[in-house]
Amino acid sequence: MGLVKKDEKKDYTIEDLPGVGEATAEKLREAGYTDLLELAVASPKDLAEKAGIGAGTAQKIIAAARKYANVGDFETGDIIFERRKKIVRLSTGSKALDNLLGGGLETQAITEFFGEFGSGKTQIMHQLAVNVQLPVEKGGLEGHAVFIDTENTFRPERIKQMAEALGLDPIETLKNIHVARAFNSSHQMLLVEKAKELAEKYPIRLLIVDSLTAHFRVEYVGRGTLHERQQLLNKHMHDLLQFADVHNAVIAVTNQVAANVGIMFGDPTQPIGGHIVGHTATYRVYLRRGKGGKRIGRLIDSPCLPEGEVVFKITPEGVKDA
Ligand code: ADP
Ligand code: MG
Repeated sequence: MGLVKKDEKKDYTIEDLPGVGEATAEKLREAGYTDLLELAVASPKDLAEKAGIGAGTAQKIIAAARKYANVGDFETGDIIFERRKKIVRLSTGSKALDNLLGGGLETQAITEFFGEFGSGKTQIMHQLAVNVQLPVEKGGLEGHAVFIDTENTFRPERIKQMAEALGLDPIETLKNIHVARAFNSSHQMLLVEKAKELAEKYPIRLLIVDSLTAHFRVEYVGRGTLHERQQLLNKHMHDLLQFADVHNAVIAVTNQVAANVGIMFGDPTQPIGGHIVGHTATYRVYLRRGKGGKRIGRLIDSPCLPEGEVVFKITPEGVKDA
């Protein structure tokens, strides 16, 4: 408590703010403000209302947070240019699906697959976790995968099948996939921090979150919680993007469609998470089942690629062209 001089290297916590003791810190966290950056960008009115503190206190907390939050640094354009030159692509196993994405899933970006239950999202995630290990000539990145599993649908048996189909050693392949189950949305967000530690030891080039939104969807129900949910999802997406930039990694996430929301807007293809997920994901692919076990992928709202639709299939060997 009672900070005097900012130490640039230190990561300050809420308790470090002048006048914020344990009780206030607890109130702030319960209101969804978990770090200094969130406080720094909060509006005084929102903060006072949500945390149940006085307007004056809210203002003081925000002013202090602005001083001590790690708001990130400016980078010059040439550094961003150099980083972007390193962008490479990861194959899905289907040429058609790769072409839809401009040649595969891009590093330094988030690709979202959304669709109904059974549309093939988890299958694609498994395939990517295998493919990332392939040599570059074969569409891989010669790296490891992190698999954040929120629905308990990761299946090593499926990885084994896909690896064998590609002539890879199944056990070696499984050893390069780092799987963690996320028990709730906070745990899910913390696991991204863990992934950063893991990336110091292993060449992680793919980070999967399957599903990105399922926990958020069940934990934040009702109108009053929507704002908080969106705020947390926003932070989560930005943590993922940062990982993508730092490690030149692919981020692949899955999302469901909200049937009720879809009906409301007359469109059955509305993904969960609204604008926040939509604006942060660089590529969004809508998946649906076609005839005879085929799958259809459609690119939605891409900043630089034409919208289009392709057909592929999911076989015992994995994701393939139809
Ligand atoms: P989602 O994650 O979108 O809910 P999944 O990725 O779990 O859906 O897709 C499940 C579907 O994938 C199954 O209904 C089946 O059609 C197909 N699938 C799963 N395993 C296999 C397999 N071993 N061989 C062929 N198809 C499979
Ligand atoms: Mg799934």
